[in-house]
Amino acid sequence: MKGAGMQLEVLAALVVDDLVVAELYCRNAGCPVREVTIRIKDYNNQITEHTKPLQCPVCESHLAVHWAMTFAEHEIWKEREAVMSVNLQRYRRDHDVGDGPLPMSAMVDRTLPR
Ligand SMILES: [Zn+2]
Repeated sequence: MKGAGMQLEVLAALVVDDLVVAELYCRNAGCPVREVTIRIKDYNNQITEHTKPLQCPVCESHLAVHWAMTFAEHEIWKEREAVMSVNLQRYRRDHDVGDGPLPMSAMVDRTLPR
């Protein structure tokens, strides 16, 4: 069975596109690894024939998936996150709130600054 054992979220993204980005984490509480980001280019379906779950590079525990998405989806997400980050910095600067709490409207503002 193709991909048996590999994390389903990663396989699902590979069904959509050959270029995938995924963020995984190590479940081993004693392991110093927190997150592992992988970028997959699977033009020849080599990874979907890989039968082992993705493993932590340090302790070799099976990794759990935070998220997996196509490269195109990831590019859109990164741009959205960048705009939101700039908007938050502008809000802090313009409203003199320092490190204090921010209103939700400022936290989800995805409009490009003018
Ligand atoms: Zn680990």
